[in-house]
Amino acid sequence: MLQTMDKEARLTEEAHRLYGLLRTVSKDKNSHWSYEDCLKAAPYTLSINRFKKEQNAVILAHSYSTPDLVYGVADYRGDSYELACKARETTADIIVFAGVWFMAETAKILNPGKKVLIPAGRAGCTLADAMTGTDMKKLRALHPGVPALCYINSLAEVKAECDACVTSGNVFDIAQKFLSDKLIFVPDLLMAKNLEAELQRRGTPKEIISFGGSCCVHDKYRPEDVEKLRTDYPGIKIIAHPECPIEVCRLCDYVGSTKGMFSYVGSSKDKMFGMLTEFGLVNRLEAEYPDKKFIWPFGVCSYMKKNTLENTLEALVDPRPEQLVEVAPELAAAAKKSIDKMFELAQ
Ligand code: SF4
Repeated sequence: MLQTMDKEARLTEEAHRLYGLLRTVSKDKNSHWSYEDCLKAAPYTLSINRFKKEQNAVILAHSYSTPDLVYGVADYRGDSYELACKARETTADIIVFAGVWFMAETAKILNPGKKVLIPAGRAGCTLADAMTGTDMKKLRALHPGVPALCYINSLAEVKAECDACVTSGNVFDIAQKFLSDKLIFVPDLLMAKNLEAELQRRGTPKEIISFGGSCCVHDKYRPEDVEKLRTDYPGIKIIAHPECPIEVCRLCDYVGSTKGMFSYVGSSKDKMFGMLTEFGLVNRLEAEYPDKKFIWPFGVCSYMKKNTLENTLEALVDPRPEQLVEVAPELAAAAKKSIDKMFELAQ
């Protein structure tokens, strides 16, 4: 009886902890996280946090994964670059990566001695999956001598064929460090257009050769979405990710990486922001800037949302084969060169 009461008290305490973190966060367009939602999540977050400690595991959650993971169990939360840095430096025995496959693969490449688990299994990404290593080899053969950059949202086999990897936060600065008048940038065609425009704006123009990939979340925004936000919410500041079409980015007040958007909101005196990006980032901003208002028209990454509390617990307790991340050593070594080059150039 006493044990039952103890258990109930622990669950209630955990639900209150979660509710304190999530009560300002939208669950969907029409509702926020409720105490009942937190009570349902509590048995999972308690178990995950216990197993995590027992197994010396660290949980890295991308900002686009669900808020119960991001705030309930993650040790670190952030964008691809921030989490790649954490994966590289962690001393934990196990890395659990609540993200998509290329992110977990990057973690394994950067810290091959660790066991790397991805709760969602082989969760794809329309951008990363748009291009294979063979595609990249063909593209380079068509443009001999042209330096090649790949977005971190690419498969290891593509990274292995490139000179350096980049993220949305460092792509402009790194591209500028190459002195050639042409650059290959893959796989995102829309970000390639934004890159070309930004280099032009900075007075260091380059012809950017790209591929046909795009993010199925960010490629959906249109100039009309920006216009509607401005009409419906006078004075609103509109921010977008550089994976959006250039005609959209040109109309926004700020364009930048996930981390960049966070800093923009944090340092702005404005109170209302239109968010042309994935819902998870909106949730993070709602949690961390409860005094500001975020208007989000649409945009959910179904791949990121495949990570749940249930499969995170499963990965920690008894992982399915597809939750265990392995990368062939030769491929990992070649891909690591381009990732290491990014760390060097991002200094
Ligand atoms: S939001 Fe876009 S780029 Fe990010 S994982 Fe989803 S599909 Fe890929």
